[in-house]
Amino acid sequence: MITKFIKRILRHDPMVRHTAAHNTGAPKRIPKKAHHIDQHLLSKNAVKVTHTLQQAGYEAFIVGGAVRDLALGISPKDFDVATNATPEQVQKLFRKARLIGRRFQIVHVTFFGKGAPEIIEVSTFRALLENAGEHVAENGRILRDNVWGSQHEDAARRDFSINAMYYDPASETVLDYHGGMADMQNKVLRMIGDPAKRYREDPIRMLRAIRFAAKTGFDLDAATRAPIAQLGQLIHDVPAARLFDEILKLLMSGYAWAAIQGLRDAGLHHGLLPLLDHVLDSDPASKEANEFVRIALANTDQRIQSGKSVSAGFLFATLLWPDLLLNWKSNIAKGMANIPALHEAMDETITTQSNGMVIQRRFENDMREIWSMQPRFERRVGRYPYRLIESIRFRAGYDFMLLRCATGEQNPALGEWWTSFIAADPVAQEALMVGAKNDTSNTISTTKRRRRRKAKPAMPTEGATD
Ligand code: ATP
Ligand code: MG
Repeated sequence: MITKFIKRILRHDPMVRHTAAHNTGAPKRIPKKAHHIDQHLLSKNAVKVTHTLQQAGYEAFIVGGAVRDLALGISPKDFDVATNATPEQVQKLFRKARLIGRRFQIVHVTFFGKGAPEIIEVSTFRALLENAGEHVAENGRILRDNVWGSQHEDAARRDFSINAMYYDPASETVLDYHGGMADMQNKVLRMIGDPAKRYREDPIRMLRAIRFAAKTGFDLDAATRAPIAQLGQLIHDVPAARLFDEILKLLMSGYAWAAIQGLRDAGLHHGLLPLLDHVLDSDPASKEANEFVRIALANTDQRIQSGKSVSAGFLFATLLWPDLLLNWKSNIAKGMANIPALHEAMDETITTQSNGMVIQRRFENDMREIWSMQPRFERRVGRYPYRLIESIRFRAGYDFMLLRCATGEQNPALGEWWTSFIAADPVAQEALMVGAKNDTSNTISTTKRRRRRKAKPAMPTEGATD
């Protein structure tokens, strides 16, 4: 779809094709007939914000990723606005406006409608680093960033040319400071300014490069790619919480599998998440785990691309499952009973995988619930299936079990049984349970429970009340 749209622009617009102003002061003004932004894809609230600011005498534009996505014909997931009004001036103009952040002070303007509230993020044009003096640390890292500047400076502070376009909904004009539209047509992701310097200022930009390349299918410009090989290790200086947020964005982008390949090609994956080291390992021994994660990510990507929700907890539960299985099996081999062995394995997996990376508590709880439900799917007699269905997180556990079936790690017949069971009436459910009594084909290799005379009930999920 993106390719089709770019072809359309190329065919119709000789004017944009020759844009090559990569670092000039004056922006290229791109009129409606040349950018093809569909007004229907705009957020009405974002337009309200720019309108209100403009009425009050300020400049205001939709900016950043929203303009990039609009120009690609994609519906943006959120809208940012840039203005020459200061945060305090912005705040005065809106009823529901909150000042957020210290390093990057911005204003969140909230709108309440039918669905979830929409937040429009409004930021004031920022000055160039050269003009921010004492706000930059010796290593080039940005410390404080509330130095307001011109729109031209603000554009130069952004990361990629395709992220530095400003759209004015009133005139339907795009202001393009760094040849973003031309780069879009050439399918190139280009860092603004000196890429090495920009990565040193903020190493997270290396991960953003990989994420956007995966999302757009664009190639990284050679000069944008080159320094990553030397500077990749700077990523480990980024605070863990910010790194985690970026990795989460990458995994939830709808292009996670492509992005992970991109990380490997760029040599960026080591030490980001221990699980990525496993996944990207070319060692044939980890082939099975790779296959599980590949299918899991393809499934997640597909869901996100078709507008369905995916919980981060579910995603991490799938990514860490191969590791958990190994630990579970090894605990059983040491003589532990099935369920305690699973719970011990959950602790082990989370501890190792969290090393150097904070898997936030709320996701951890979801993961534990999904995992601890898995052996319960194998109990298909008495009250067990009914109790399982009543679990709050049943749907996630069931989806997870189906995924295991799809990868061949669990017997597909078990997935089919549960799918029938959920849809069946009570009489048919009883019949299904009778059938299941004689069926021993669905246990995973770790499960020795059936040989024990009295099975321990599955333990309730720890921390489920968080
Ligand atoms: P998406 O929202 O799809 O992840 P985005 O481009 O909108 O993509 P945001 O993180 O929402 O990404 O940032 C909005 C804009 O702010 C970007 O388009 C870019 O212009 C600028 N920006 C964000 N992060 C950085 C950064 N680390 N360095 C420079 N500019 C940045
Ligand atoms: Mg955005």
